[in-house]
Amino acid sequence: MPLKIIVCGGGIGGLSAAGYLRAHHEVVVLERGTLDFTTNDYGLSVVSNAFNLLQGAGIRPENLDMVVMTHLWVRNNKGEELRTVHFDTRARFGGASSVLVKRAKLQQELMRFATSSEFPGSPAEIVRNAKVTQVDAQAGIATTEDGRVFQGDLVIGADGLNSAVRSAVFEGKGTPRSHDLLAFITRLPINDIKSDPHFAYLTEDPASRAGLSSAYTAAGPQSNKRIIAYHTSPRDLQVLGYTSEKEFADMFDSLKTGIIKDIPASRVAEDLAPDFADHLVDLFRHGKIDAWRVRDITPMETWFHGKVVLIGDAAHAVTQHAGQGCNITIEDAEALGYLLRDATPEVIPAKLEKFMSLRKWRVELVARRSRELGNLQSDEDKTKEPIAAEEFAKAMYGYQGAEHFLSTSSTVVP
Ligand SMILES: Cc1cc2nc3c(=O)[nH]c(=O)nc-3n(C[C@H](O)[C@H](O)[C@H](O)COP(=O)(O)OP(=O)(O)OC[C@H]3O[C@@H](n4cnc5c(N)ncnc54)[C@H](O)[C@@H]3O)c2cc1C
Repeated sequence: MPLKIIVCGGGIGGLSAAGYLRAHHEVVVLERGTLDFTTNDYGLSVVSNAFNLLQGAGIRPENLDMVVMTHLWVRNNKGEELRTVHFDTRARFGGASSVLVKRAKLQQELMRFATSSEFPGSPAEIVRNAKVTQVDAQAGIATTEDGRVFQGDLVIGADGLNSAVRSAVFEGKGTPRSHDLLAFITRLPINDIKSDPHFAYLTEDPASRAGLSSAYTAAGPQSNKRIIAYHTSPRDLQVLGYTSEKEFADMFDSLKTGIIKDIPASRVAEDLAPDFADHLVDLFRHGKIDAWRVRDITPMETWFHGKVVLIGDAAHAVTQHAGQGCNITIEDAEALGYLLRDATPEVIPAKLEKFMSLRKWRVELVARRSRELGNLQSDEDKTKEPIAAEEFAKAMYGYQGAEHFLSTSSTVVP
């Protein structure tokens, strides 16, 4: 008998989980929004560890309007080259390339995975405008704001960093935390800077040279200031400017939000111009700018309780610095799909124990590496040797999914 599974949240993790689980089970996704995919959304790096899994499941690259990552360009605050890394995960680790894509495009393709009759099993049912406000972990019940009640053998909390499922079931655990860091974020057409020789390395044909360019300030108290530009489609770039929160901290708190929209370019320049060359700061003069609060959540001992399990940002939101938040979320979804493929209600607790042992060490590795790259180490992090880039790449980029991992884990688990 198939399980009845209720997924709370139709984002990257919720739709991926629905795609994997529908092959054997009856899946209902409750999403508070409308999932119309019309937003010109922010860009994501879908790195080989997740892209490999998605391609294996039938996600079509031609539906993503994506670019394949070929380079990481590392530069100083004047924009001068420090080093260029050829970021070819396919050649180095086997499996898949790593790609850059807009979030809405990826989400739309994941919707096809969850609902199209081209994939195995019955299409998942997607319930829009269904904001989950209460969860009963013993009964496996999720209730929406307007009083609709959904019961399953398992409830998956895939409702992001501010998870209502986490708050309802894991009281006081996994608290969102800020780090006195925000990212100004803007998008621009590549054509806008095509004639500027400073960016020739970045604006050449993205089919042959696409990736991420990172300009750092010198080491020291200001060292977590940086400007990062990356492709999000063959025609577009996204630019992030990391800096201290300053007066925005109070605004984020009082408005109870993680995003403040329509920041004037002059405010961004005031912050970044003392530290970066003009041509880098001017990247923020082409389009609208938002300020995003950089947050993660405090580590949780476990992500399941009763008939509820958390995945993705709800369980383990990390800062963006290692570019892995959505990738470990997709890994979670694939692992649940594999572990629960032949599950009956009685064996779910044992399967979720296995899920924790499979997923937790990878997530902790990403969380620590993200803090290290952002200069946001905890006191405990500082007692450990930093994770070397090569060690991280080896552990992450060649991942081939839960089944393969479990059959080789005695040699791979650190
Ligand atoms: C600016 C920025 C850049 C990023 N860049 C990268 C990157 O380059 N690479 C990378 O790997 N990661 C990146 N991330 C992180 C990545 O976006 C997240 O890790 C990923 O989206 C997590 O997926 P999720 O499904 O857990 O949450 P989300 O994708 O946030 O989805 C949560 C879903 O739940 C819904 N929801 C919320 N509350 C409720 C409720 N009560 N009831 C019903 N539905 C609800 C939401 O509407 C949403 O659809 C970035 C994040 C940001 C903010």
